[in-house]
Amino acid sequence: MIPDADIIIACPYCDTPARVFQLISGNTIGAITWTDGWMDAPMMPRAPRITRCAHCKKIYWVASARQLGFVSLGDTSESAGEFKDAPHVGPLSEADCFEALHGGLAPTTDLELELRVFAWWRGNDTFREPEHPAGHPTSPDAVANAERFIELTKEMWDEDILLFRAEAQRHLGRFDEARETLQGVGCSDYWPAKSRQLELLDAQNRNVAILFSPEHPPQIPQD
Ligand SMILES: [Zn+2]
Repeated sequence: MIPDADIIIACPYCDTPARVFQLISGNTIGAITWTDGWMDAPMMPRAPRITRCAHCKKIYWVASARQLGFVSLGDTSESAGEFKDAPHVGPLSEADCFEALHGGLAPTTDLELELRVFAWWRGNDTFREPEHPAGHPTSPDAVANAERFIELTKEMWDEDILLFRAEAQRHLGRFDEARETLQGVGCSDYWPAKSRQLELLDAQNRNVAILFSPEHPPQIPQD
């Protein structure tokens, strides 16, 4: 893993500087991929796309912030100048994502989808913790989010989107709809993910589950 210099950005509301971590190159050694598409990749950390200002507490898209410059990764010495105390941008929680959705931060379908996927991933995080019993989100907000996500993607046919939709349908217990959605995924790179989702559907399992890990690598189709 080779980190790059931090980009310094200014909060669009109050101009407070924050750092954005960047990677020159990373890899997926030790990565765990989940059925909802989230990947825990220790050797490929990524900066959040949307964050909350540490000073004024408003939420903003990192890409919408003005860039002020660069400093070496984590440099908090005097050589980092006025940016030495700037914190790294942090990720939003599930509740933060709902606040952003209600606060008008998703004016286009693409941004709404992205923010709803972020909300879904953060809600699913609880069930990735090894000490937490297996499960799937059941709060009214999480269910409404999944339903809206399914609605937004009903005319979308990209295989990665179909896998997202089938997974949301599985969490909601709509097993037949999930199977129907997966029919759109062919014998492509996405086959192993589809195959795992079908296994879970056959077992009427609604839980967030590991898709691939070092112990469970992707299965290659046999013909
Ligand atoms: Zn601010």
